[in-house]
Amino acid sequence: MMIAKTTMPLVIVTGASSGIGLAVARLFSAAGHPLLLLARRGEAMQALKLRNSLCISVDVTDRAAFLAAVDIAQGRFGMADVIVNNAGVMLLGDITRQDPQEWDRMLDVNVKGLMNGIYAVAGGMAARQRGTIVNISSVAGRKTFANHTAYVATKFAVHGLSENLREELAPSGVRVVTIAPGAVETELLSHTSDPTIKAGYENWKTNMGSPVLSAEDVAHAVLYAYQQPQHVCIREIVLAATRQQA
Ligand code: NDP
Repeated sequence: MMIAKTTMPLVIVTGASSGIGLAVARLFSAAGHPLLLLARRGEAMQALKLRNSLCISVDVTDRAAFLAAVDIAQGRFGMADVIVNNAGVMLLGDITRQDPQEWDRMLDVNVKGLMNGIYAVAGGMAARQRGTIVNISSVAGRKTFANHTAYVATKFAVHGLSENLREELAPSGVRVVTIAPGAVETELLSHTSDPTIKAGYENWKTNMGSPVLSAEDVAHAVLYAYQQPQHVCIREIVLAATRQQA
């Protein structure tokens, strides 16, 4: 880790080893923030060589490890002003045939892992009367798609808990922002185990006729929401490729 003097507040990003989280890490680093980057693949985060970044290999479902990592970073860089709860998995499947362990994994990472991130910072932010919690949901947190039943369950949960949290934290001046992207070109689909569903999803993206969103497109939405004055809460941003109909 390279340490240089910084007066900018700490940003925590989960799932920073690839895709959207990696792009968010780069963008906030370019804006001058020190970073706590969390994901299981530590080397991928180290390889970014971002200034003032602490990269810790953590599974977000491991609450104790998550909290310990946040403690270390806050000891070094000061209290976190924003957390981007981005780590997630999408294991698409036909619910009548899908291995329920895939549901468990999605619920554990996408919902309980995200709640671990909230737990790590919300109390401190409320006490300080400032802070921003950004939760990465999905268009699949607003509407349904074929073979998405369990994934949709997790993303509707993210939408629901985020809005509830926003209402609860509003009186203490803490913002809660939900970002809901449509299809983004990342590693996300690669973990789906059903080859037919995977191929169908790739076809859907190709048939849109133009590139889907890039991870950087989503990262810019996150930075935009964060950089508003603290009294302005962008409650939700829904963004998708212009040619994405669903
Ligand atoms: P990627 O697969 O590229 O990135 C997912 C990130 O989550 C990786 O850094 C991965 O790191 C991390 N992660 C997964 N499981 C865990 C875990 N148990 N503990 C810690 N980190 C974990 O996908 P995206 O960038 O696309 O996904 C980011 C978020 O965006 C997800 O919440 C996803 O649902 C959401 N999203 C994505 C869309 C898309 O089309 N790509 C559309 C809408 C929403 P590692 O494997 O190193 O642990």
